[in-house]
Amino acid sequence: MSNRQTTYNFNAGPSALPTVVLERAQEQLVNFEGNGMSIMEMSHRGKVYEAVHNAAIERLRKLYNIPADYDVLFLQGGASLQFSMIPMNFLAEGEKAGYIMTGSWSEKACKEATAEGATYEVASSKADNYNYIPTTFDVQEGTRYVHMTTNNTIFGTQFKSFPTFDVPLIADMSSDIMSKPIDVTNFDMIYAGAQKNLGPSGVTVVIIKKDFLATAKAENPTVLKYETHAKNNSLYHTPPTFGIYMLGEILKWIEEQGGLTAIDQQNKDKAALIYDVIDTSEGFYVGHATKESRSLMNITFRLQDEALEKQFLTEAAEAGFVGLNGHRSVGGCRASTYNAVPVAACQALADFMKAFMKKHN
Ligand SMILES: *Cc1c(COP(=O)(O)O)cnc(C)c1O
Repeated sequence: MSNRQTTYNFNAGPSALPTVVLERAQEQLVNFEGNGMSIMEMSHRGKVYEAVHNAAIERLRKLYNIPADYDVLFLQGGASLQFSMIPMNFLAEGEKAGYIMTGSWSEKACKEATAEGATYEVASSKADNYNYIPTTFDVQEGTRYVHMTTNNTIFGTQFKSFPTFDVPLIADMSSDIMSKPIDVTNFDMIYAGAQKNLGPSGVTVVIIKKDFLATAKAENPTVLKYETHAKNNSLYHTPPTFGIYMLGEILKWIEEQGGLTAIDQQNKDKAALIYDVIDTSEGFYVGHATKESRSLMNITFRLQDEALEKQFLTEAAEAGFVGLNGHRSVGGCRASTYNAVPVAACQALADFMKAFMKKHN
């Protein structure tokens, strides 16, 4: 039997949620705001749910300063469906889209676009096993849009600033959305699955410029058109009502933390605790990403040999650390330090890493 207090959750996604948010949801679970039923049992066309739905959209708009000429949508199918929906809506035969290749998720996004039209690489760090963020970009004339992944969940790299192009830029922000203040107007479209920084899985947030949306192809199935959801305030069909309620509660919690500037500082402090141990370990721990490209959300590292790495992961698990195994495609270790991971958990991991090093060095 584990308990929440002594379990340090570093899962990559779905990942930790703030305890206070779960407790509030628990309080409201059976009888939501005195309506005699849970939020899950209500009509998505009723006043109570509608207020929850619109409040979540408003909070997103406020926290990210989203201008009125952008729509905020709640979709289903995860970020993975966006990999297909984007080219289905915005890439016609004879057109081409540019992809910035910074990891496995970029590869997956590009692969889906290749099924719809032509694609090419605007930049790639693949030759170095995606251990850095490219800084030079080659955008070809006649490009329909450029796609980027702002944080590379598997390799542990992150854009610290965003490139700007004179063609529409689309960003997969699944693993660093709402982790810091950003300028939304740098992008024509932003999307993210909720399960890393925004709540439980099942909701996908899309922030899309109306002018860009208006350029979409017309011939897609109804639910796969952005226009359908924009016209109907994401209520064309039944939305994932409980997930959207939770997302709203998470955004409220971000406000309570002091907003995105405060969250950003917390995330920097948390990551620094762990990166400092790696940097002062004299090679006992080896970070995967180059220093300039390091992610504040996913910290990837290795130990000198696989046997020691296995020992590290075994002892860490015994000490209550969860989710430290690297992604199955790259191995090694990874600590995901999303918004809801407490400073105390990161301090505990830093302490554990130091103690392990002392014991095995
Ligand atoms: C997790 C993740 C995805 C996949 O999200 P799903 O919601 O599972 O489809 C896509 N892109 C990035 C950057 C991710 O971290």
